[in-house]
Amino acid sequence: MADRKCMVMRRKERKEKEAAKVTKDVKEVKNEGDKAMDNGEIPSAEAAATNCAADNIQNGDLQVEPVELPPFEIIAGDRIDPFAFKFQFKNVEYSSGRNKTFLCYLVDKGNTADGLLRGCLEDEHTGSHAEEAFFTQCLSDYDSALKYTITWYVSSSPCSACAAKIAEVLKARKNLKLSIFAARLFQWEEAEIQIGLKALHAAGCKLRVMKPLDFSYTWDTFVENEEQPLNLWEDCKENYEYYHEKLADILE
Ligand SMILES: [Zn+2]
Repeated sequence: MADRKCMVMRRKERKEKEAAKVTKDVKEVKNEGDKAMDNGEIPSAEAAATNCAADNIQNGDLQVEPVELPPFEIIAGDRIDPFAFKFQFKNVEYSSGRNKTFLCYLVDKGNTADGLLRGCLEDEHTGSHAEEAFFTQCLSDYDSALKYTITWYVSSSPCSACAAKIAEVLKARKNLKLSIFAARLFQWEEAEIQIGLKALHAAGCKLRVMKPLDFSYTWDTFVENEEQPLNLWEDCKENYEYYHEKLADILE
């Protein structure tokens, strides 16, 4: 349970430091962790604990952003706040006040001991984006010998910079299949955004707008739902159809 405790601490620390995210530092710390794993072939749970201890020391000395590891099992309590979900994932046409991206992920690495990884990332648009954080933090132990099936449920579709980065990753890592289900399309009228979505599509990313059923699934899987079902908002289906049509036009 050492890694579990560790993760709770990380989450706390991350929230405190949210204003000062430094992606470069994350990568550097993470690379050191990777080296340690390569040398010793430590099983993943132990490696997590080791990395965590190392990070804590480094955080004290260097003031870097702590690296959050993905959960290795389904962890109760590691879920989105229900009020945050209902606000951030609402598929309204105009998303005023929603300046964050919530990214819920499932990673299937095939026949490995890790099994199915599940977790959530949340970021301010002013810091490093959740999409980028997924690759640097959740997939830092990427192994080119494995086949990855990754599913994201995101509160809004990626910005143009993230779309370009994701497309690059997919082109470089052919063993990685990514499906993105987005509650809303982010600034879809912008030419830049449309170019980004097309590039993602061309790179093999399965891009979809979340259907009413997807909202219920995300609620059941990633939210502190206290066993209550999600009451879908009145215009959920209509809004889905609206965004679905816009996306189809863009990807046509
Ligand atoms: Zn972005």
